[in-house]
Amino acid sequence: MLAHPLDLADPHAAAVAAEETELLEVIYVEVAGAYWKGDSDNAQLQRLYATAFFTQEELDEHMKKIEEAKRRDHRVLGKQLELFTVSPLVGSGLILWLPKGAVIRQTLEDYLKSELRRRGYDAVYTPNIGRIELYQISGHFPYYSESQFPPIDLSEREGEQAGEGERYLLKPMNCPHHIMIYKSKPRSYRDLPVRLAEFGTVYRYEQSGELSGMTRVRGFTQDDAHIFCTEEQVADEVRGCLEMTQTVLKSLGMENYRVRLGFRDPSSDKYVGSSEVWDRAEAAIQQVAEEMNLPGREPEPGEAAFYGPKIDFVVTDCIGREWQLGTVQLDYNLPSTERFALEYIGADNQPHRPVMIHRAPLGSMERFVGVLIEHFAGAFPLWLAPEQVRVVTVSEKSEAYGQEIEKQFRSAGFRVTGDYRGQKLGAKIREAQLELIPYMVVVGEKDAQEKTVTLRDRIDGDLGAMPTERALARLRQEIEEKTVRQTAEVSQVAVDRGAKNEY
Ligand SMILES: [Zn+2]
Repeated sequence: MLAHPLDLADPHAAAVAAEETELLEVIYVEVAGAYWKGDSDNAQLQRLYATAFFTQEELDEHMKKIEEAKRRDHRVLGKQLELFTVSPLVGSGLILWLPKGAVIRQTLEDYLKSELRRRGYDAVYTPNIGRIELYQISGHFPYYSESQFPPIDLSEREGEQAGEGERYLLKPMNCPHHIMIYKSKPRSYRDLPVRLAEFGTVYRYEQSGELSGMTRVRGFTQDDAHIFCTEEQVADEVRGCLEMTQTVLKSLGMENYRVRLGFRDPSSDKYVGSSEVWDRAEAAIQQVAEEMNLPGREPEPGEAAFYGPKIDFVVTDCIGREWQLGTVQLDYNLPSTERFALEYIGADNQPHRPVMIHRAPLGSMERFVGVLIEHFAGAFPLWLAPEQVRVVTVSEKSEAYGQEIEKQFRSAGFRVTGDYRGQKLGAKIREAQLELIPYMVVVGEKDAQEKTVTLRDRIDGDLGAMPTERALARLRQEIEEKTVRQTAEVSQVAVDRGAKNEY
């Protein structure tokens, strides 16, 4: 396959390219809308993208990937599985989490919160707006004002000229708020590191043409935290952040990733801080990445933020697409005298400047859940599934026993429903399979007599009859271990297999 798709928008160039590359046998053409010169005020054009392949097999492989991507599209699955919606009346790019999607988000948040407690973070809450002066100090305003919603101006309401009274911004970043919490009292070296965590909702202005499902939005919640530490603590804190990201990705079956070390471009002058400090920070990050044997980890000069070096996790999903998710960034800018002038009193009784670390293992809840939906093709592992278990009766005669079993699973903490309709068992099983529910608990008259259930796995099919306690224990263990049993496998296979195994 060619490294770059040929752009057929220019027919002459395409013809020349086609002639020059005689080896190309098969061409795949895609049609997409585009604005003239990329400006949404201009007329919309049809753009043809063509990708050329050397063999039919390569084309087939490519087509399979495209089909697979379509099947996994989180915008389609999100609607079908009732996970989220967007209402034009609420506003585009603003996600409404439906109850089932909210279960996934809440389960992820609870998991992250328990990890944060274990790792010595303090939870904080901060408001969704802040005065414009706060962002002038941080530098987020006016430098990034194009990517923000315009200020809320209270001037006239307070009897002043427009722009002269109080103005607020919808929070574009959580950092300045967390900094003010750090500054709310004097800090000693004994207090450090201070780790402040918040699922903080921020708002960014994206052009409406660029909004897409959960992955390009105007309001999103970051699994954010800021660590304030001494320079000597940087390596350990970075290691802690990386380990947490690894743990979280592992529990989601996302182990195919590489890290990108974003370093400064030594020939550029856009970076704040002395080059000695940068050298130390980059060396610290690189050493930690080496010690942890992280995949990738080649320094990429010019990829640093202007305020400090960073490490990004780039995850490859099961159909080979890369997503940049978690990030850990060192910051020498916001703590500086020109910005917030952060301090702690050292062992020498003198004021010192802390280093700040920004980190978010998932990035944003919206984008991450969007990626997860595609990663699992909607078939979530047991610990995350909105509906974990469905009790299914063989006939109406078993309804009372079914209700009893449902109650037993619910009080054991499972998200469970029951299907007691008088329909054929096979049809009820097929429905649950299509709804991607991980387990079915099938109960008949014999089960009621013997106090058993027949466990049915969405992937492996019938697991046979067993005492209810054993079924509960088995599922409980799968949740505790956060087992991910299926990501790459096409769920249609499971559906077909389920249909064949019908009772
Ligand atoms: Zn931050």
